[in-house]
Amino acid sequence: MAFPEPLERLIRALERFPGVGARSAERMALHILRSPREEVADLAISLRDARLETVRCSRCRNVSLQELCPICADPERDARLVCVVEGPREVEKMESSGAFHGLYHVLLEGFAPREGASPEADALAALHARVSADGVEEVVLATAPDREGEGAALLVAEHLHGLPVRLTRLARGVPVGSRLEYLHGEILAEAFRGRCSLPAKEKP
Ligand SMILES: [Zn+2]
Repeated sequence: MAFPEPLERLIRALERFPGVGARSAERMALHILRSPREEVADLAISLRDARLETVRCSRCRNVSLQELCPICADPERDARLVCVVEGPREVEKMESSGAFHGLYHVLLEGFAPREGASPEADALAALHARVSADGVEEVVLATAPDREGEGAALLVAEHLHGLPVRLTRLARGVPVGSRLEYLHGEILAEAFRGRCSLPAKEKP
């Protein structure tokens, strides 16, 4: 027998989360049914606020409460230096390392793409426009040293081909397979200081 319709709807909604299968969605939904009503009301409000009150920074694409995030809006930051990271968590990590005083460009995670565009294509086009127009002198690729991260770095390098900008990559003191978000701040600072130039890549 199927669950009552509102419960079925909740299960279907939870199933859409990454890494949540049918059985976990069902367990989560039943847990919500057992939870105090006030807690569930708070959860619903948090869900709505997190989605509706945040925007993507118009410059770096990081999660922000304003059109321009506090990092991009800070006149003390060096706008000639742009660090390309995979997601908002990596921005946090880089910031806590204290090694970087430039601006960021967030590639993939966080928000739904514009209709008809892949989030990746959107991010790359935005980076190209920034580098062309904003006086950027160096783009530091700080994607993770795993297959996915290397692939992203390659795409960025191809996309910026022909623009008068220095491309660098974080030094490989970073253990292979470790995501940037898990790295200790000091290791990250070291990797940043030891960053190396990349040769210009041809578009295939
Ligand atoms: Zn920003």
